[in-house]
Amino acid sequence: MDKKGLIIIISGPSGVGKTTITHKILDKISGVRQCITCTTRSRRPDEKDGVDYYFVDDTTFTGLINDNQLAEWAVINGYKYGTPKPEIEKIASSGNDAVLVIDVQGAKSIKSLYPSALSIFIKPPSIDVLKERLESRGEKDRVDMRLDRVKTELEQAQGYDYVLVNDTLDKVVASLKQIIEKARSQKL
Ligand code: ADP
Ligand code: 5GP
Repeated sequence: MDKKGLIIIISGPSGVGKTTITHKILDKISGVRQCITCTTRSRRPDEKDGVDYYFVDDTTFTGLINDNQLAEWAVINGYKYGTPKPEIEKIASSGNDAVLVIDVQGAKSIKSLYPSALSIFIKPPSIDVLKERLESRGEKDRVDMRLDRVKTELEQAQGYDYVLVNDTLDKVVASLKQIIEKARSQKL
């Protein structure tokens, strides 16, 4: 049996509910850890460094790229985001499942590096609901830029293993839990 855990990619437009869903999954299923990624964007008031992201400056981010420390990285809404290789490997080799909440470009890169990764795309019930969720989060930073990306992102949904609509939170969390449990049982 392969002792390495699953790599679970969760993508979807900004504001769709990826963070909320991931936190629920971490609470409900044992042996799942979130892979903390790096970003050059500023920390939101409710975010913590090292918990939600590693918040780094541009020079540090460039250093990580040059030292080949990132499994993938992308520029999103004008900021850089990247997945540290040691973070994924630490989680996977401890036998836990690693959840990566990353955008569509990052998902493609991770799938080519780790072909067995499980990919899930979260869709909003509608664009209006997505807008409301971004506003409900108090999002003021680059809202139009985030919404401009949505159409392109939604077009990528078909390349994922599963597509879930985040209408009712409990429903989508239950579906994702089932998907993860099925993938675990297939790995045994
Ligand atoms: P993302 O991580 O995809 O950018 P968040 O998890 O931060 O999105 O969610 C954006 C906002 O939408 C938050 O205020 C969150 O509480 C809310 N939200 C998430 N899922 C739902 C849902 N199913 N119904 C209503 N509001 C939701
Ligand atoms: P936000 O600024 O709203 O937290 O995130 C913006 C987008 O960046 C989201 O789609 C999020 O999933 C994505 N993201 C976060 N970390 C990474 C990463 O390390 N790599 C990539 N490619 N995308 C990321």
